Amino acid sequence: MTIQDHVAREIIDVGAWVAARGWVPATSGNFSRRIDAKTFAITASGVDKGTLSTADIRAVTLWSPLPSGVSAETPIHMALYEDDPNVGAVLHTHSLAATVVSLAHAQDTKIALSDYEIVKGIRGYRSHAETFELPLFSNSQDMDQLAKEIRIQVKAQPRMFGFVLCGHGLYAWGSDMREARRHTEAIEFLLACELDKGRYRRSRTDRGS
Ligand SMILES: [Zn+2]
Repeated sequence: MTIQDHVAREIIDVGAWVAARGWVPATSGNFSRRIDAKTFAITASGVDKGTLSTADIRAVTLWSPLPSGVSAETPIHMALYEDDPNVGAVLHTHSLAATVVSLAHAQDTKIALSDYEIVKGIRGYRSHAETFELPLFSNSQDMDQLAKEIRIQVKAQPRMFGFVLCGHGLYAWGSDMREARRHTEAIEFLLACELDKGRYRRSRTDRGS
């Protein structure tokens, strides 16, 4: 299947945007965008996500076997598109904040983020007084199993637009690429705040204040 230029362009542009923020080191991460009711486009495995070209983007058909050359994590994208026709784009980062903060919560099933104004960047949140609960899953190399667990959680939680894999990274999505970018940026900012808050508390403790 030939991928339309505007679909490829959105993925190439988001790759450069995410890479510029340092969220996809060492060819990690993957990005996808829905093409129609039955297909989506996703980045190929093992390529630098900051310098993508059309040749690095593959078309995937829902409810079908995966084509060659796509990321091992494609089943997670597929589960999100298959279960919700309103999912238009999915972004996966391997940021420092998502990695460190999730490891600090390794025993938990979610990370509760409270008192942050930026939560209003996530669809449905209208006030800093609302706690954003980011689901946390244990990391695994068994992507089919992981996708099954994620499906169950997504169905159970209506305002879920992202989750973290412990010690691995963030998945965030939206109804289109623009919303997926905003959700990714808001959640990455929340995680970066948590990381800095931990450092700040420690430095104050070390100074004895
Ligand atoms: Zn990953």
